[in-house]
Amino acid sequence: MHPFHWVPALGERHASTDPRPSGGYPAGSTITTLCDRQMNAEVGEMAWLWTTCPACNAEAHRMVGGVRQTAYA
Ligand SMILES: [Zn+2]
Repeated sequence: MHPFHWVPALGERHASTDPRPSGGYPAGSTITTLCDRQMNAEVGEMAWLWTTCPACNAEAHRMVGGVRQTAYA
């Protein structure tokens, strides 16, 4: 279990350490991302096809100690 969650926002998939309700962040909820920005979470099938935010990806990898991630769900 990683201390962060992936969340689509602003056209990219970001990671956040904000507490996530079961079922995911509600659409429009404000989250603070690992790339140190605040944005509103979005939902939907297409949102998960967006590219991963490079800054969030790098930070997420750092947080898990360099373990290669095979899935972002
Ligand atoms: Zn990000």
